[in-house]
Amino acid sequence: MSYETVRASDSDVADALTAERKRQNGTLTLIASENHVSEAVLAAQGSELTNKYAEGYPDSRYYGGCEHADEVEKLAIERANALWGAEHVNVQPHSGTQANMSVYLAMLDAGDRILSLELNDGGHLSHGHPANFTGQTYDIEHYHVDEETGYIDYDALEAKAHDFDPDIIVSGYSAYPRDVEWERVQEIAEAVDAYQLADIAHITGLVAAGVHSSPVGIADFVTGSTHKTVRAGRGGVVMCQAEYADAIDSSVFPGSQGGPLMHNIAGKAVGFGEALEPEFETYAQQVVDNATALGERHSEHGFSLVSGGTDNHLVLVDLRESHPDTSGKDAETALERTGIVLNANTVPGETRSAFNPSGIRIGTPAVTTRGFDETTIREVADLIARVIDSPDDETVAAEVSQRVDELTESFPLYD
Ligand SMILES: *Cc1c(COP(=O)(O)O)cnc(C)c1O
Repeated sequence: MSYETVRASDSDVADALTAERKRQNGTLTLIASENHVSEAVLAAQGSELTNKYAEGYPDSRYYGGCEHADEVEKLAIERANALWGAEHVNVQPHSGTQANMSVYLAMLDAGDRILSLELNDGGHLSHGHPANFTGQTYDIEHYHVDEETGYIDYDALEAKAHDFDPDIIVSGYSAYPRDVEWERVQEIAEAVDAYQLADIAHITGLVAAGVHSSPVGIADFVTGSTHKTVRAGRGGVVMCQAEYADAIDSSVFPGSQGGPLMHNIAGKAVGFGEALEPEFETYAQQVVDNATALGERHSEHGFSLVSGGTDNHLVLVDLRESHPDTSGKDAETALERTGIVLNANTVPGETRSAFNPSGIRIGTPAVTTRGFDETTIREVADLIARVIDSPDDETVAAEVSQRVDELTESFPLYD
């Protein structure tokens, strides 16, 4: 892959693209929601399908010339079925947020009630934040994680559900290091006559590989992203039982989207195909093993982990006890100058603010794609600790940066 064709007509954009490739190659991506797709997925996303209008669904389109678009979307659907085993899947949502929107629009009226995890505790904007359409359209209440344990407080969730009488309970999170009790949430939802929307955006790939429990077959609706732990390029999917298939399909199109991004659906088809190979299970298991090893090493360094560890691909470090004068934002900034890229994150019982929170979220999907194992990830934990222990020390920064260069050169991404 090279940007010569772009360069021939636009050197400004080619420069930025080349620099971005260099940035991804030369830094450690520890942002828990990011990953690196294969060149096959990149190529499919860059295909002529970007030119094609295919409003509708396979064999039932509003435009002519859709025979190859149909093939691609059918392949994506078939492979999604093989990966997650839902009764019905729609691969057209442009993003995870759009997938969630399709469920809300299909099942709720404006003013209906959604019960979801608070954003500060690990929830997502599309679960009812006041700045999001969900917070503006629906009546929102939140449940929480237990501040002491860091685990979802299911008893409090149950009590809140009986109190609030929601129409949808959202499970599945953006910054939650533990397994989710899908059955428990489903029982609570059924007891109050609500649906469960399990948003597995972060763990779509882990669920597909069977290294994380699956809500499919339990929750009424399951939404996912296709660019986080499954490496199928940017986008979303929505899954449901057969009885809701028509409602969901018409909620995606024409309810909330126009023409599907057929080039991205081609990327999904290719990435899903890759995820069906046996190597993907090995990859997903390594993602989890690496997160476990990273968490253990951080604990050895005296860092406090929310919930004490992890069951999935991420750890959430609460810096307040070990480094009271260093905010998550300070840590993020200090690390970024050494080529270690992660994000500041709120922690349960946050005492700072969403813009300058007290924690950092560290995810292993992207570095595992480039070949990191437990030995390498332990060294990464050591480097992170060195920087956070001395965020203003330029000698430490230079040494860590040097080591990051060596590591990224030993584990190259795109050539
Ligand atoms: C990432 C994420 C999404 C999807 O976000 P998009 O950026 O819209 O694709 C949805 N829900 C949760 C919980 C997420 O973490």
